[in-house]
Amino acid sequence: MKGDRPDGTMAVMGEIHIPLADLRYAAAVPRVPALLQPPSGLLSDRLGRPLRDLRISVTDRCNFRCSYCMPKDVFDKNYTFLPQTSLLSFEEITRTANLFVAHGVNKLRLTGGEPLLRKHLEVLIAQLATLRTPDGLPLDITLTTNGSLLERKAQALHDAGLKRVTVSLDALDDSIFRRMNDVDFPVADVLRGIEAAQRVGLAPIKINMVVKRGTNDQEIVPLARHVREHCGPGVVLRFIEYMDVGASNGWCMDEVLPSADVVQRLSAVFPLEALAPGAVGETAQRWRYVDGGGEVGVISSVTQAFCHDCNRARLSTEGKLFLCLFASRGHDLRALLRDGYSDEQIAGAIGLIWGERDDRYSELRSAMAAEPGSGERRVEMHYIGG
Ligand code: SAM
Ligand code: SF4
Ligand code: SF4
Repeated sequence: MKGDRPDGTMAVMGEIHIPLADLRYAAAVPRVPALLQPPSGLLSDRLGRPLRDLRISVTDRCNFRCSYCMPKDVFDKNYTFLPQTSLLSFEEITRTANLFVAHGVNKLRLTGGEPLLRKHLEVLIAQLATLRTPDGLPLDITLTTNGSLLERKAQALHDAGLKRVTVSLDALDDSIFRRMNDVDFPVADVLRGIEAAQRVGLAPIKINMVVKRGTNDQEIVPLARHVREHCGPGVVLRFIEYMDVGASNGWCMDEVLPSADVVQRLSAVFPLEALAPGAVGETAQRWRYVDGGGEVGVISSVTQAFCHDCNRARLSTEGKLFLCLFASRGHDLRALLRDGYSDEQIAGAIGLIWGERDDRYSELRSAMAAEPGSGERRVEMHYIGG
């Protein structure tokens, strides 16, 4: 599920990165196994799910205040963002990513907050681009951005080794877009960012639209039309169901427009046919325009959760490892990185953590047992997802 959290711990379904509560300090220092075995690349959790995809949050800051993610009343001038010393350095991120790669990760996604706010991000990308899987293959490195700084940074990112990018764009209409980002940011600047990304050769480009019924659902068709007519088939638009991100955004099911409705509305204007699912763990259901106008995707994080083959982990800005969007406890890898543990020891700790990964409800169940009433609302929401 979504998520890179504004506190740096975004969670994800697909490319979604979601802020839960401010849980930055709820992290246990991982156990290091006494007997160290080199990573086999074949790690699997209790449900047999491998570890393939690592979402790395590089900053907890953002220049937008999307109400569904970092609402202004929470992330205001009194909100304390992480101090620079708490952030993992580029070297720490690269070292950690390399250990995950040894365990089977082949895809890295940089996120945030807004990742392009992290200074010299291209230096990190260049470091990550040198990593290789145990088979000697380069990694799939990508980035999710609100696009506000993309026009300025696309070339440097591409030159550093970034191959592709996902841009969040919730409306084509300028006034709706400005209202949704809540900092009056003009949509034209994001559109220019997408053009710049295309120009420098970042491909494929994905555009993610979070659909909130009653807020921007009237933008589904206009945005699809815009992408078809102005971006071409190399740009894939994906519609994401608006998710509960914890207490901060007043989530309510009435505001979720199910993906099935999105597909229905779209196909009434542009006939669609379903495409076969891609890779295991892929979060989007893919459709193609019958007239050859390209592809769209829907990410049904609420109405059809896709936990059964979830192979994603998240590394927060300050180095906590989270195993699920709904995990409230992270594992403090930074403590190991900064306390002189060896690569073998940290890889061993990651192996233990993933090996004990359970289903997404287990933690809620234990939280509710410890504190009756604490998790009901969330469990209720999860089961809507089935
Ligand atoms: N700032 C960057 C951006 O907006 O692309 C990266 C981080 S953002 C948290 C990652 C993704 O999460 C974005 O595509 C955003 O739209 C999505 N997202 C945030 N809150 C969400 C929510 N409540 N429901 C669904 N998607 C959400
Ligand atoms: Fe989302 Fe399910 Fe994966 Fe958790 S386990 S991150 S809820 S897909
Ligand atoms: Fe959240 Fe919006 Fe900022 Fe992305 S751009 S981190 S979705 S507030």
